[in-house]
Amino acid sequence: MPITISVKTHTRIDMVDITSSVQNEISKAGVTDGICVVYVPHTTAGMTINEGADPAVCQDMIKKFTDLVPPDAGYRHMEGNSDSHIKTSMIGSSVTVIVEGGRLVLGTWQKIFFCEFDGPRSRKVYVTV
Ligand code: ZN
Repeated sequence: MPITISVKTHTRIDMVDITSSVQNEISKAGVTDGICVVYVPHTTAGMTINEGADPAVCQDMIKKFTDLVPPDAGYRHMEGNSDSHIKTSMIGSSVTVIVEGGRLVLGTWQKIFFCEFDGPRSRKVYVTV
């Protein structure tokens, strides 16, 4: 089984920086070199890598996702969360990061974000190296 990280989200759409949690799990696993896959096993939440230095970047992305895929636009899915499913497929369900010397190889400004599209909820992320 992959390593499981628990993520709590606080709003309907939320981007949570999980970089340090992923790094901690890699350190605990004692893996020095490899490929790390970070995967979200949910249909209304996804995963992306983007800028973590300025929180306005995530705020802008959340606003643009909402503009592009509004919550109520005459969808057919009876659960009422089609926008969440669509946003999840737009952003994707996993990211892949190189691990070297026991460290995630990320660019200076890059962070790994869990993207909630139907929160707030308790969620899971799977990590394997
Ligand atoms: Zn649904």
